[in-house]
Amino acid sequence: MQSSWKPARGVPVARTRRGGRRWRLRHILIGLLALLLLSLFARYWWREMRWRWIVVHHTASDIGNMEYYRRLHMEERGWSDIAYHFIINNGTHNTAVGQVEESNLWHDRSGNFSTRNWYVNTFGIAIVLVGNFEEHDVPPVQKEALVKLIAVLADRYNIPVERIIGHREMQNTRCPGRHLNMAEIRLLVYDQLRQE
Ligand SMILES: [Zn+2]
Repeated sequence: MQSSWKPARGVPVARTRRGGRRWRLRHILIGLLALLLLSLFARYWWREMRWRWIVVHHTASDIGNMEYYRRLHMEERGWSDIAYHFIINNGTHNTAVGQVEESNLWHDRSGNFSTRNWYVNTFGIAIVLVGNFEEHDVPPVQKEALVKLIAVLADRYNIPVERIIGHREMQNTRCPGRHLNMAEIRLLVYDQLRQE
């Protein structure tokens, strides 16, 4: 079959004719540039645009901080780091009540190990509060810190309020305890977002 390609009148085809050295070089450069842009976008998407859920947990124990649970998870569970992205402290282990610590997992935007659901672990942000809320209420300062942190994340990553869930709302577990009312948390986050 004959090619129907014809040079337009007046265009100096000789310099960029198909198969010529310059033509090949130009296409290689365009290809490389496209690959670079694609990989930059993929990296940005993975770090900043993949978040679909916020999952809330409790530690089921009234002591500890980031380092404490990091060691516990690494030594006892054999994980590479703490299971969560953020931890909201309760005042033990030299912390302040409501103090938020960010883990290496979040710094690297890695998936977390907080549920048995691969999808939610990969595309969800895991927040844990230090405390056993099956046994007692959430201290108001800690609850306030939780609502504030969730609101910031939901706003930044465009996560709808109904995708803010407690661990037990997706799996058969008591986490984050019967005293942590997720419907109330969602309402408080919704109010906070509306005020902004
Ligand atoms: Zn949990």
